Amino acid sequence: MLEGKSDSVVLKGIGASPGVVIGPAFLLDYHKVKILKRQIEKGEIDQEKQRFENAVSEAANQIKQLIAEIPEEFREHSGIFETYLLMLKDRMVYDRTLKLISEEQINAEWALNNALDYVRELFEQVKDPYIRERFEDIKYAVRRVQKLLSGSPAADFSQLEKPVILVAHDLSPADTIQMAKEKILAFVTDMGSRTSHTAILGRSLGLPAVVGLENATSSIFSGETLIVDGLCGDVVVNPDDELLRHYGEKQEDYVRYRLDVIQYSNLPAETQDGFRFKIKANIEFIEEISSVISNGAEGIGLYRTEVMYLAHKELPIEEELFLAYQEVVERMSPFPTTIRTLDIGGDKFLSSVSQDDESNPALGLRAIRLCLKESNLFRTQLRAILRASAYGDVRMLFPLVSGKSEIIQVKEHLEKTRNELRREEIPFDEDIKTGIMIEVPSAVLLADVLAREVDFFSIGTNDLIQYSLAIDRGNEYVAHLYEPLHPGVLRMIYRTIEAAHEAGIEVAVCGEMAGEPMYLPVLIGMGLDELSMNALDIPKIKRMIRMSNQNRCSALVRDILECSTAQKIREHLLDFLTSDFPGEFDLSHGLFPDFVGREAILGPLMTEMKGNALNRRLG
Ligand code: PEP
Ligand code: MG
Repeated sequence: MLEGKSDSVVLKGIGASPGVVIGPAFLLDYHKVKILKRQIEKGEIDQEKQRFENAVSEAANQIKQLIAEIPEEFREHSGIFETYLLMLKDRMVYDRTLKLISEEQINAEWALNNALDYVRELFEQVKDPYIRERFEDIKYAVRRVQKLLSGSPAADFSQLEKPVILVAHDLSPADTIQMAKEKILAFVTDMGSRTSHTAILGRSLGLPAVVGLENATSSIFSGETLIVDGLCGDVVVNPDDELLRHYGEKQEDYVRYRLDVIQYSNLPAETQDGFRFKIKANIEFIEEISSVISNGAEGIGLYRTEVMYLAHKELPIEEELFLAYQEVVERMSPFPTTIRTLDIGGDKFLSSVSQDDESNPALGLRAIRLCLKESNLFRTQLRAILRASAYGDVRMLFPLVSGKSEIIQVKEHLEKTRNELRREEIPFDEDIKTGIMIEVPSAVLLADVLAREVDFFSIGTNDLIQYSLAIDRGNEYVAHLYEPLHPGVLRMIYRTIEAAHEAGIEVAVCGEMAGEPMYLPVLIGMGLDELSMNALDIPKIKRMIRMSNQNRCSALVRDILECSTAQKIREHLLDFLTSDFPGEFDLSHGLFPDFVGREAILGPLMTEMKGNALNRRLG
């Protein structure tokens, strides 16, 4: 990996949405600290100085606390934090701020800001890069004090004047939706993983993103130039000319690659030995449909319907939902549209219906459980979906089903809703197909029973992995343990497909795994019927299916189902990818499928890479 010279720093995170962009940073957390000038009375001077001194002591306590928490292996680097402590009391900043407060009768935040500007100018004149870099330490220390002085009023990035790269500790799905309307080039977050809903939304918006950086908000300042490489998870802060050139070339390579691979979009997804797969798209926004069509999807395999609920304070009314669904269905016709009922709860919080006191929301009132509790909300959506079914091929999909009794309750609601529409003489498709998402281990164990109740299965690997390996999909600290190739996960997928086929129903995978090329041989070999993914992933997946041989993939699956560790499976798969797709998975080439390959193949190394990034910051 390239390392920056001069002031450049390369932070390592998880590439969550592809693309390479360069632009100014806008630190959401930092902008929570609005630094405003306020003239103070003479009599307030002492009080203002005291406020500043208290904030400095509090910041010092925080830094001491950080020192105490440094893990043993990084203890030798704790010196940098000691430096921060010294910087807090640095005369140029500390004394100058106190002086400005009394002489200019200004508030502490503004005085501190002016003191920092003064120091910046001095440091910019220094030739020695080592000394110049010490300004970063001062900035870090000052920022802590500013935060304490200013509290944290809510951020408002709707006021942005020019396009920026958003840097935040975390973004809720609702924040991410908000970004669709703003001038955002890309986003980077401390938290998150590739399958967190924020990352998925980023992909839907087509915004490059790097998540799970852990320390982005403490390493980046608003206005600094950033390069975001969503392909492999690099974020470069203050790139020098060499880095700008390198990533500029990568950006061009990526554009070239997209132009090359797009040629596969309208070709059938058929293996060399004649097996045909249905390739569909996952969408969140109606605006994605043109991309769905141009990338060659044969329908929508997963229409996540939460955005209309999250985007406004009030719940959407039936008519709004119906009009949106009707538009999607008509524009996709004659291809099918699979509309998933509301999956609110977990990390998609909706104040009007979600519980705000759940200590474990991922295991709480989420998805179908919430809909069954809030029956009015559910019935409104069912009516809208049924009404849209009069305008094309609509399928209904129910998320997070854990057993048969939920399906029975869903069917009761569905039947009542149908009766209502019949009475009102509102047309709908009497033969509408219904399916469930398989994302809870109990649903896998009961797959044979559940398969008799519905017309199709769709395996939500994002949640299936989360719930079977007990790994929070949004938590960057366990992102490296999120392992699609875990033998337990693969056996679950295999068992679900077998049960579906024995019952004569079709089965799809619609989790992120479906759009990641390195897992494709495994899914092909298991005999899956359909893959549904972000539209941008479709051409490369079609290209890879067309290079594949189903029989060879089946043999691979037989072998890997015998393996007892993910490591062994990864080795088998790597051998297979190298022999059957020569050159396609060349990790050094820094592009496709680097961003998926690296994380998945080198999963265990992620921790090490993060350690290195930390070392660089500390050293
Ligand atoms: C999944 O869990 O794999 C899935 C497709 O649903 P979501 O990501 O919306 O939870
Ligand atoms: Mg899910």
